[in-house]
Amino acid sequence: MIRDEILALCELSNDLFYHKIPEEKLSYYIKESLRLGREAGEAYSGKDILNLCEDNKIEIKYIKKSKKAYGVSFRAQVEMDKKHTKIWLYEGSIQELAKSSGYDGRKTLTYEEALKIHLCHEFFHYLEYTENEFVPEKLEKVVTLRVFNFTRKARIQRCSEIAANSFAKELLQLKELPNVYDYIYLINSGKISKEQFVHMIEGYESTIKKINL
Ligand SMILES: [Zn+2]
Repeated sequence: MIRDEILALCELSNDLFYHKIPEEKLSYYIKESLRLGREAGEAYSGKDILNLCEDNKIEIKYIKKSKKAYGVSFRAQVEMDKKHTKIWLYEGSIQELAKSSGYDGRKTLTYEEALKIHLCHEFFHYLEYTENEFVPEKLEKVVTLRVFNFTRKARIQRCSEIAANSFAKELLQLKELPNVYDYIYLINSGKISKEQFVHMIEGYESTIKKINL
């Protein structure tokens, strides 16, 4: 079982400005993103995500084939405008993920579980959009450039992904943040080795320890 803080850090490290985050601020972005997602999830506690989509008139489009771009397979996408929201689910890729989700004592996800994880994730982005409360905008900016008394600042966009995963975990009462399955899939499909994964997690574990999280 991998702690939320570590899986959140995995996600955060993919941010364009990750290296601009001062070390003492890492725990702020991790904790706040996890909290915002969790609290949004608690507000819908006990609700079924399929019903939530229906109640919110979100159209769900099931696409049979998997969509690949630059070697990365897409599993879900959301399309939003003022009037209408559509969530695209790529059944093939979700099926592949589900099949390759057993690892290290974890039980393999069913197709339906994998599907719901993706729906929850996209539903969280829908909430951000309709409430016009995007997670990165709720959090402090980081300084990306400082020259004399000129500073440039940016938002940490990945915080929205951490919160979406935290939302899915809360709503579906999962044991871990669901981005763990992204890595498990990579291991089980031979794209990364078990050693690489363990090494990566150990690295983040030591960062988490260092920042007392
Ligand atoms: Zn997302």
